[in-house]
Amino acid sequence: MSAMSTGLSYFDELRDNPEVIDPPQMEDAMDVAEHVHDPAQNALKSNVLATSSVRDLLECPVCLNAMYPPIHQCSNGHTLCSGCKPRVHNRCPTCRHELGNIRCLALEKVAASLELPCKYQSYGCVGIFPYYSKLKHESQCVFRPYNCPYAGSECTVIGDIPYLVAHLKDGHKVDMHSGSTFNHRYVKSNPHEVENATWMLTVFSCFGQYFCLHFEAFQLGMAPVYIAFLRFMGDDDEAKNYSYSLEVGGNGRKMTWQGVPRSIRDSHRKVRDSFDGLIIQRNMALFFSGGDRKELKLRVTGRIWKEQ
Ligand SMILES: [Zn+2]
Ligand SMILES: [Zn+2]
Ligand SMILES: [Zn+2]
Ligand SMILES: [Zn+2]
Repeated sequence: MSAMSTGLSYFDELRDNPEVIDPPQMEDAMDVAEHVHDPAQNALKSNVLATSSVRDLLECPVCLNAMYPPIHQCSNGHTLCSGCKPRVHNRCPTCRHELGNIRCLALEKVAASLELPCKYQSYGCVGIFPYYSKLKHESQCVFRPYNCPYAGSECTVIGDIPYLVAHLKDGHKVDMHSGSTFNHRYVKSNPHEVENATWMLTVFSCFGQYFCLHFEAFQLGMAPVYIAFLRFMGDDDEAKNYSYSLEVGGNGRKMTWQGVPRSIRDSHRKVRDSFDGLIIQRNMALFFSGGDRKELKLRVTGRIWKEQ
């Protein structure tokens, strides 16, 4: 009795039952048969339907992700992905029979014959890929959305560049500047208390592109330092077409940096940790700030240009 009830509650946890055929799809199939009389069209439509039902077969009934080899099955033929198999305690989540160690080679082979559109189709990718190489393409697809480049908090927003520019403006209230030269002040009243800090991002638009200027405080080994660097809102191969310079100074001293903006595909943390920017020791930064070294007042000037 108790085994029965735990079995039922386990079953209730399942989000889908793979034996139930999706009724709306069957209706679609009948609609097609009724309204399309051209036999070639008919064949095409039924191919599309066959592909989508094979796709359904390749969806793991537990986690709902696409399954990749090894695909497992119970002795009744219910399938399961290799990620979920260790978590079901050797019980088929569909029929509760012992799962054993049976691989579903037939389904793995059917999957190999399947060709599917890239999942970033709605972002503009028109690629169609064999089932097993689709994931690799998607990890590198140039249409895949970008992460929000804002560094202050962990923001989970993703999108294409125009969407992210609007999001930075409206969601994060970042400073937006147009033009390829800039002159920016970074001020902090208690710089000695701050070991890790991120200043408000600034976004520049020039050459029909967008660039993010970052300024952060962090520890380089034992030394407290500041870093300023530029990121390009786009892919790396295009970022390489641009260069930028940064300059900071005071009291008759000056430091300059010339670099290549990094793509926002690289996280701001990755860029920071590779020291790919203008790094200023805190002592020097406070010296540049003038006054009594109690306050940080840095003026960073810079320029972005397009390489020929
Ligand atoms: Zn699964
Ligand atoms: Zn089963
Ligand atoms: Zn793609
Ligand atoms: Zn954001």
